[in-house]
Amino acid sequence: MSAPVLVINSGSSSIKYQLVDGETMEASATGLIERIGLSDSVLTHRHAGEKAVREDRFADYGEGLEAMVAAFEEHGTPLADAGLIAVAHRVVHGGERFVQPVVVDDEVERAIDGLSALAPLHNPANLEGIRTARKLFPKLPQVAVFDTAFHATVPERAHLYAVPSEWREEHGVRRYGFHGTSHAYVSRRAAELLGKSPKEVNVIVAHLGNGASVTAVERGRSIDTSMGLTPLEGLVMGTRSGDIDPAIVFHMHRQTGASFADLDAALNKRSGMLALSGHGDNREIEKAAAAGDRAAQVALEIYCYRIRKYIGSYIAALGGADAIAFTAGIGENSAEVRARALSSLVALGVDLDEAANAAGGPVISTPQSPITVMVIPTNEEGEIASQTAALLRS
Ligand code: AMP
Repeated sequence: MSAPVLVINSGSSSIKYQLVDGETMEASATGLIERIGLSDSVLTHRHAGEKAVREDRFADYGEGLEAMVAAFEEHGTPLADAGLIAVAHRVVHGGERFVQPVVVDDEVERAIDGLSALAPLHNPANLEGIRTARKLFPKLPQVAVFDTAFHATVPERAHLYAVPSEWREEHGVRRYGFHGTSHAYVSRRAAELLGKSPKEVNVIVAHLGNGASVTAVERGRSIDTSMGLTPLEGLVMGTRSGDIDPAIVFHMHRQTGASFADLDAALNKRSGMLALSGHGDNREIEKAAAAGDRAAQVALEIYCYRIRKYIGSYIAALGGADAIAFTAGIGENSAEVRARALSSLVALGVDLDEAANAAGGPVISTPQSPITVMVIPTNEEGEIASQTAALLRS
């Protein structure tokens, strides 16, 4: 490995990690630490095709990351001998300030903390990971890479909301967008597959995972994206509503007396496909729909219809697209969702090749299709490592 980077993605009770080469974007080891703070924590470490599982109690992030260090010592190369150039952290919200990756110091930590109001479910956990890793690896640069940064190029016409000026000026209310490292990586790969430079093509990326967003990428720059101030806006997701009339919140508050915290949790954790079908996981929904479950069938119809509307509107926003790329768990694996999301877009230039779609791509449109449709596995950790290596080289 010429530029080994330890990439850390800290969630509310879990940490994902990968040892990635910042030059080739290839991972040599990956792991997941789950149920941190509970009595039945689990660390799963994968290296050279082997999987090691340790069940233990990791009281906090510090104990979790120490277990990660031990896993590297027991399986393959210890981190101390890996020649790490940095530890890189995925940070969900960079606000208006962080439009590039940054080396973390105390002041950057405080700024990320200050952005927690915009991402209360994510930034505090990301910051805890950073603080813990700074203690554990005091000699290595710690780099923060932001999910919002790729969307810093979205122009005012798409990032401003028509809301009172003091909301925008004093409280940072605007569209930020998320999944930026995925949209950046996949749109670049799409250009590569077309044999063109990113600057020569317009690409629409549909990142369809548990969280989901669509981005319009014009000549390498994000010009619109479906998530907004927070990841709640846009597509229907596993447990998030996506777009709704905001007055629903006031209506439900007045009708039921539910607090804003309850309503926030309802829209982020108890809505979306879970609310429509009883399942948050797409595989279960597709299985139930195939077995005749009407709620699951309707949920899938709503899910795909919302994607179709976004893709259609982004073809208009871009004034025509060269490619549409599907990525993440559902985008990469569900031929059914891809086919249904693209149905009736023939008039807009999408001619799907059913057999290629069933086979999984990478190209799933016919050779005559004006817009090339692709399936591209995302590589968020690789992109984070690559951006980190580029920052340290500069
Ligand atoms: P992610 O957040 O990218 O890990 O994506 C998670 C989502 O991808 C879940 O809803 C899974 O059910 C879905 N998914 C993963 N594999 C498949 C598959 N083979 N077919 C359909 N959906 C899948």
